[in-house]
Amino acid sequence: MAALTDIGYIRDLLARHGFRFSKALGQNFLVNPSVCPRMAEAAVDSPDMGALEIGAGVGVLTYELAQRADKVVCVEIDDRLPPILAETLADCDNAQIVLKDIMEVDIHPFMQEHFGDRPVAVCANLPYYITSPVIMRLLESRYPFTSITVMVQKEAAARLCAEPGTRDAGAVTMAVRYFAHAEKLFDVSRGSFTPSPNVDSAVIRLTLHNRPTCTPEEEKRLFSLVRAAFGQRRKTLSNSLMGTGMSKTDIAALLDAAGISPTARAEQLTLEDFIRLTKHSMK
Ligand code: SAM
Repeated sequence: MAALTDIGYIRDLLARHGFRFSKALGQNFLVNPSVCPRMAEAAVDSPDMGALEIGAGVGVLTYELAQRADKVVCVEIDDRLPPILAETLADCDNAQIVLKDIMEVDIHPFMQEHFGDRPVAVCANLPYYITSPVIMRLLESRYPFTSITVMVQKEAAARLCAEPGTRDAGAVTMAVRYFAHAEKLFDVSRGSFTPSPNVDSAVIRLTLHNRPTCTPEEEKRLFSLVRAAFGQRRKTLSNSLMGTGMSKTDIAALLDAAGISPTARAEQLTLEDFIRLTKHSMK
């Protein structure tokens, strides 16, 4: 629908509904007509699948998803938007808005209720204030999404898709890598949104892999070690891991057993190193 990327139309529509953008809710709406079709194409690869969106805005991406998927459900927190969406998505019988905070959605029952046994892809222009928490909530739910295609700030995209051992790698890189393969698809300039944010963006796609490498207890331990190590990334592991409550002697013994140098820093470790460290720490 061309009008949903027409800035004049959007201004009129929002003014008619007395809507003002909320910075706190990360409301920067897409107005570049080429972006949503590309995102929807990257996410939905068969017409019988479902699509889960987070944050509808005026429905510009919802509309594109509804053209390609069998069913679209969009979780939106802002109760001022459904009357606007009733207008903009009037032709999309297969799109439904659920008024809720995505951070309060219990993923498995929600997906069963709305999608049944359909394969489902996530596709969203994420509100930037909760990018990582939303991604981790989706991944940690272990729901078998076919993929997660999301627009995030460019720096967040670099962190999420970083190779371990590089400057961009951080705790979130390791966490995402544990669950998925992450790839950057394309950049999106700040001028593609209204209002324009202060930073550029990028669309990334996560493809989940199903390697059961750790038990749930080990997973907890793994992420606490990763957080402690990257929380003080300039320090050597023998110092940064003290943040987990272990003594210096125990850390030295653990690093030795896992074959990791005590002078190594978090960013020099691969995910496999962290997993080995975790398993040794629970022996
Ligand atoms: N999809 C639209 C687009 O691309 O123009 C809007 C994207 S805008 C960056 C983010 C959207 O997420 C807004 O509609 C905002 O109200 C919504 N949102 C913010 N926090 C949310 C939350 N916790 N749960 C669900 N939706 C949220």
